[in-house]
Amino acid sequence: APVPLGSGVISLVNRLQDIFSRVGSQTAINLPQVAVVGSQSSGKSSVLEALVGRDFLPRGNEICTRRPLVLQLVRSAESSDEYGEFLHLPGKRFYDFSDIRREIQAETDREAGDNKGVSDRQIRLKIVSPNVLDMTLVDLPGITKVPVGDQPSDIEARIRTMIMSYIKEPSCLILAVTPANSDLANSDALQMAGVADPDGNRTIGVITKLDIMDRGTDARNLLLGKIIPLRLGYVGVVNRSQEDILLKHKIKDALVAEEKFFRSRPVYSGLADSCGIPQLAKKLNQILAQHIKSVLPGLRAHISSNLVAVAKEHASYGEITESKAGQGALLLNILSKYCEAFSSMVEGKNEEMSTS
Ligand code: GDP
Ligand code: MG
Repeated sequence: APVPLGSGVISLVNRLQDIFSRVGSQTAINLPQVAVVGSQSSGKSSVLEALVGRDFLPRGNEICTRRPLVLQLVRSAESSDEYGEFLHLPGKRFYDFSDIRREIQAETDREAGDNKGVSDRQIRLKIVSPNVLDMTLVDLPGITKVPVGDQPSDIEARIRTMIMSYIKEPSCLILAVTPANSDLANSDALQMAGVADPDGNRTIGVITKLDIMDRGTDARNLLLGKIIPLRLGYVGVVNRSQEDILLKHKIKDALVAEEKFFRSRPVYSGLADSCGIPQLAKKLNQILAQHIKSVLPGLRAHISSNLVAVAKEHASYGEITESKAGQGALLLNILSKYCEAFSSMVEGKNEEMSTS
């Protein structure tokens, strides 16, 4: 089964956010955006879909992503609640994910024409699901060199500028996607990530298409960072091929196949930390946890002042009913508990702590 994106510390943040909203606080813990960059057809959209665990993105071996797609993932508490909603169609809930794909295509055509044109105007899609955790992912057009269709002659420069406007932000995590069947030294993704993030503090290397490497070659040294070192390291993945997609193979089955792929190849043994979509989700989670750690001091201060506010309100109830007083006490209790759980979690003392 797909590993929900970022379990652990992020679910704790989600619960905290629930509590903040219950006490009427405006506090939001801003999780960073994760931008996916790479050459056209390197597998960016496939990686995003696998992380979300649903089919909804236009994919294929010609240009499909022609406008930035900002995917806001919102965890729903209801297990049956799963739908998408576009900013340009407010109030319309898409329960069928293939309708979401059709709408992305239609909305792309509306803005960028139907002949391979590219536009930097965003499409914003919110996905509410019990299987995701709050975070924002950005699917970007891939880097292409030769203009096709209605593309202008400076298409490469335009796409690079568009990508850079996202990944230059210090809060943006960069998933630099490179297919294993091309030379890492020619990777557009790593080249751009290197410019935007020279210290490599926020770049994760993703190597796709391990299944279709040349016979006799493998990605072991690449994943170990022996070819181009990357501080946050690499994760190798196997997504669905175009044929799998045409045959309507499900993401769930693809994840099973991916696991089998790595298990059956001795060359990847001992590299479990750098293999597979679930591992990529885990890595993202860890990095987001680091981010949360860096915003923790401010957050703690905020929780404390909330505690004080709730306590004051509590005191001012005077002769208020038992139940109301009970609620206040309960809230105080929960907040204190979360405050503690949160600090021990980001300090890494208790990664798997139950939060229920
Ligand atoms: P994007 O242009 O970077 O978003 O790439 P897509 O996700 O649309 O993928 C481009 C093509 O490569 C599609 O036909 C995918 O099915 C195929 N593809 C992506 N990842 C893999 C992989 O790991 N293995 C194989 N065999 N095909 C893949
Ligand atoms: Mg794409």
